[in-house]
Amino acid sequence: MKEIKVNSKKSYSVFITNDVNLLRGLIDTYKLHSLFILTDENVYNLYGKFLDKLFPNILGLKVIKPGEKNKNINTIMDIYDSLIEKNADKKTTLVAFGGGVVGDIAGFIASTYMRGIKLIHVPTTLMAQCDSSIGGKNGFDYKGYKNIIGSFYQPEFVFSNINFLKTLDDRQYLNGLAEIIKYAIVCDINLLNYINQNKKALSERESDKLFHIVYQCSKIKAKIIEEDEFDLNKRQILNFGHTVGHAIESYFNFEILHGEAVAIGMITEAYMAMKLKYIDEKHFNKIVELISYFNLPTKIKVDDIELLFSIMHKDKKKTGEKLKFVLPYDLGHAIITTDLKENFIFD
Ligand code: NAD
Ligand code: ZN
Repeated sequence: MKEIKVNSKKSYSVFITNDVNLLRGLIDTYKLHSLFILTDENVYNLYGKFLDKLFPNILGLKVIKPGEKNKNINTIMDIYDSLIEKNADKKTTLVAFGGGVVGDIAGFIASTYMRGIKLIHVPTTLMAQCDSSIGGKNGFDYKGYKNIIGSFYQPEFVFSNINFLKTLDDRQYLNGLAEIIKYAIVCDINLLNYINQNKKALSERESDKLFHIVYQCSKIKAKIIEEDEFDLNKRQILNFGHTVGHAIESYFNFEILHGEAVAIGMITEAYMAMKLKYIDEKHFNKIVELISYFNLPTKIKVDDIELLFSIMHKDKKKTGEKLKFVLPYDLGHAIITTDLKENFIFD
């Protein structure tokens, strides 16, 4: 098992392992009692028996409906009701056992129920292990706006078991891989080379390769959180591919997955970077080849480009009237700019 320290205002560890049984020992070491487990139906169907065995004496279990469309206020209220029903109190620890949806909801619940109860993240998707479980951002969707309500709330620890990733379907696995490619392009040229050299093994989900990429991405995320816990500057580098990606997701009514939209977003924004000579054509082609190799989409037909641009402007991350783009600068680095207009993509 490897450990990464996240030195935010509240420090905590991210544990990465192939041995899920180590979770029990950690819970004892951290003296966490009165566990309330939050998970979703898919994860419960796969791992319910395992949960019963690992945690024979828990305060409660709540199994929510899976997917982004359930990341809403009704689900949140339902969970508050279950906590109250079980007499959950300040001694209770909420365990987020699932993907980013479960993690984001659990984070919000833990930060608000009784003004804050303990939280541990046990992420089960690649997306959640590499990204959403680290950094404390949580929230839910409201009135069509993604993550518009939420807070920052750090867990006691994060426990990433690589073996959970074996049961993800291909589409969800690749969805997470898109975010890993993002980290590599803007933060870490060594990781980018590693992914390129181990493409086949990664598409076959070889354990040691998965371990390496989850470990490296967790380290990158931890370092960025240390420098910018509240997403004021440095953390925004992780929005590479997201200005265009978020707009595409919303334009297609969330019928394409976040990672798929980000893949198209990364290619569009890398193309902008090439036009500005921040990266050369060889680098741009390398990005396109890598994304294509994993069968992630590289383009999508948008009939109403003005609508796409207006969605981009509505993005809550926009600064004033200006759009913000994160553009790769030489591979392994990026710059954040507000100097570009959306139609620069097509100029
Ligand atoms: P998800 O939680 O919906 O999980 C994807 C699907 O995989 C679901 O159907 C789930 O039931 C299933 N699943 C989960 N674990 C599984 C396993 N081990 N085997 C088989 N199936 C499994 O989605 P996600 O991609 O994990 O996360 C996306 C969410 O994360 C979005 O809501 C996004 O806003 C959020 N997010 C948050 C942050 C943050 O910093 N808080 C960062 C990135 C993304
Ligand atoms: Zn993302």
